[in-house]
Amino acid sequence: MEKGLLIVVSGPSGAGKSITCKRVLEKRPEIQLSVSCTTRAPRTGEVDGENYFFLSDDEFNARVAKQMFLEHAEYLGKQYGTPKDYVFQMINQGKDVILEIEVQGALMVDECCPEAVLVFVLPPSLAVLEERLNMRGTETEEQTRRRLEKAKTELELLNRYDYVIKNDEIDNAADQIIDIISAEKCAVKRNLHLTRRLKEGETIV
Ligand code: 5GP
Repeated sequence: MEKGLLIVVSGPSGAGKSITCKRVLEKRPEIQLSVSCTTRAPRTGEVDGENYFFLSDDEFNARVAKQMFLEHAEYLGKQYGTPKDYVFQMINQGKDVILEIEVQGALMVDECCPEAVLVFVLPPSLAVLEERLNMRGTETEEQTRRRLEKAKTELELLNRYDYVIKNDEIDNAADQIIDIISAEKCAVKRNLHLTRRLKEGETIV
């Protein structure tokens, strides 16, 4: 069985990564979205096991020590990590998996899984980013200010990514991610084995 694709959707907080990934799953329910672990407190309406697995610092550190994360990073004083087993299980079953994570984590995935596809989501402007963070109403003024400052440093790492999406409209951004997945599946580097299979008399579709 062919392995699934690992797609990393990353970029500054407030760029619209989460909502865009949710729209991708509505359009393509066969794609899996990895649920991360975090030590930050749940926001109103967030459900454990659905939005995140909410862990204590001790539990998170224990999982780091047991190497249970594919990547993990500290973001504004809280820990975030991607469960390794789930991601590899899905990929080995031929399912495509999206990780919606911040920039340091994305670069760690690039190191350990060079076959991963890295997509950077940009907001239309920093003013819109600020507006979105304020509208969410989930952060204090100080936290919003820190997220904005962090966004500016994260933008510097765009050149480490494979694709960029300018996120002015959710549906459009979701379609672009779906198009990227389709294009990547046709990439020659992912399909070199087909020549051998054809020569061996196999039907490949
Ligand atoms: P929030 O607190 O707004 O849910 O997330 C803060 C940042 O952490 C966002 O940029 C989000 O994409 C990122 N994030 C969520 N899960 C993970 C993860 O498992 N690993 C890393 N590195 N970042 C994550």
